[in-house]
Amino acid sequence: MRIREPNVRHALPPDLPELPTPNSFCTDTTLTKHIVPAAHGYAFAVNKGSRFHVIDLYGEQIVDFMAWVHDKPFTRIEKMSTAYTRYYLSGVQPAIGECLWTNADRPLFRVTADTVKVHDMTFMSCYPELYQKMGLKGHRSCAQNIFEAMQEWGMRNILEIAEPFNIFQNTPNYSLKRLGSSKPGDYIEFEALEDAVCAVSSCPYDLNGVNGGQITEIAVVIAEKK
Ligand SMILES: [Zn+2]
Repeated sequence: MRIREPNVRHALPPDLPELPTPNSFCTDTTLTKHIVPAAHGYAFAVNKGSRFHVIDLYGEQIVDFMAWVHDKPFTRIEKMSTAYTRYYLSGVQPAIGECLWTNADRPLFRVTADTVKVHDMTFMSCYPELYQKMGLKGHRSCAQNIFEAMQEWGMRNILEIAEPFNIFQNTPNYSLKRLGSSKPGDYIEFEALEDAVCAVSSCPYDLNGVNGGQITEIAVVIAEKK
């Protein structure tokens, strides 16, 4: 086996799209902005009533997204469920105003804006063995990224991760087509309907032109009400 890191773009380009300002959310808010390194993950908490953007800075970058209800103490038992969500949507694409649901039959997020409207709710996250089977030892994966990011939230086993909502992933009806529906600066905005802990991964799958063949940074911008 050969060790191979994902093909990653490291430097931020000068034409980085502008990140949202408080006016983007139409509320009196405090913004927290975080750039997630290419092919890495990030976990963050959001309070009920806050909104956040997941932004594709360069286009064609899939973002695996998972979330857990932030109960106190945090148990990670109630989590976003793509199965429950598909049931309520009667499909796999949430429209603006529709929700992502938990495995306890509660809506967790409402989609409040979406410049792409092409996402996936059928595929699992890419995982270490997927790459190992292709002879790529040590290749980063969304499962690993989210597991690493969630360790500070008590996760101890990679199999504890949830099933992902794959933002910007264009794989209709479980097909594996040429991807690339999102453009630089595209985003989806969620409103948190409960306190939640979220995790995102800049998907490291750089094979066959997926993710534009080059993995890029993504941004998360959280708007909390003042
Ligand atoms: Zn992935």
